[in-house]
Amino acid sequence: MKPGMYYEKLNNARVQCRLCPHLCKIGKGKMGICGVRKNESGDLASLNYGKISGIHLDPIEKKPIHFYLNGTNTLSVGSFGCNFHCPFCQNHVIAKSIPPTRAMMPKEIVERALLEGAPSISFTYNEPTVFYEMVLETAMLSKKEGLKNILVTNGYIEKEPLKQLIPYIDGANIDLKGFDAQIYQRVYGGDLDIVKRNIEYFYQNLHLEITTLVVTGINDRSEELIRLFQWLASISPDIPLHLNRYYPSYQYHKAPTKIDFLLNMKEEAEKVLNRVRCGNF
Ligand code: SF4
Repeated sequence: MKPGMYYEKLNNARVQCRLCPHLCKIGKGKMGICGVRKNESGDLASLNYGKISGIHLDPIEKKPIHFYLNGTNTLSVGSFGCNFHCPFCQNHVIAKSIPPTRAMMPKEIVERALLEGAPSISFTYNEPTVFYEMVLETAMLSKKEGLKNILVTNGYIEKEPLKQLIPYIDGANIDLKGFDAQIYQRVYGGDLDIVKRNIEYFYQNLHLEITTLVVTGINDRSEELIRLFQWLASISPDIPLHLNRYYPSYQYHKAPTKIDFLLNMKEEAEKVLNRVRCGNF
C-alpha cells in the first residue's frame, strides 16, 4: 500500500480524492468508486501500487496505436481497478475485482522493457488513472532510459494530475465511448464534457488515437456517431479513429455489433476523418 497523491483531508477523518472527476469523499475505512483508493485512518492509500496483474510484450498496434512507433513491440503493463463501470467490460476481472497479482516496482518494469528490447511501455489492461502513482513513477524512470510511454485510457482524470503526468507520456489511445452525455453518465458513470476536454488536451501534447467501441443498443445510432466523427474532425481530421466491434461480455449480452453497420459508419467517418480503421472482428 502506498500513500495516494492528489487528495485532501476533510473533517471527521474523511478524505477527498482529487485524482479523477468523481472527486470521491471517502469515510474512514471506505473506498472510492474505483475500488483501489482507500481511506486508511484519515489518509488516502493506493491499494494497487506495485501490484501487476499482467505484463506482456505486444505489437503496439494491439493497443491500438497504429500511427506511432508502428511495427514495434511495446511492454504492456496493468494493475487492477477502474473509475468507470461499463456493463460490457471485457477486462472486468481486473477492472472490477482484485485479481492475482505479482509484486513489481517501477524500476523492475523499466528493466524488463530494456531487457526485452521494447522501445515503449504501455499502461493498459485496466484504467491507468487509478494506478496513477505507479504510472507516473514508471514513466519518469522509463523516460530517463530513453523509452517512450503510452497510455490506454478512458480519459477520465482531473486537470492537475494530468498536467503532472503528460510531460512523461508520448502517445495515447483514449476510449471515447459515444457522444450522448446522458448515456455517458448513466451507463459508464462519467461526464462526456470532461472526456472531450481531456481529448483536446492530449491532442495538443502528444500522439493521440481514439477508439470507439460500437455497442449494440447503447451507441449504435448513426446520428450520434456522425456527431462524434464531426467533433473529432473539428479538432483535426488527422486524428486516427478505431471503430471497434463489440462482443457480449460481463453484464451485457446483446448481439455483437452488426458488421454492415460498422462498415457503413467507417464510410461516414471517412467523409470527415483521414485515418479510420475498423477492428475487433
Ligand atoms: S480515483 Fe478513485 S477514489 Fe479517486 S476520485 Fe476517482 S474514483 Fe474516486
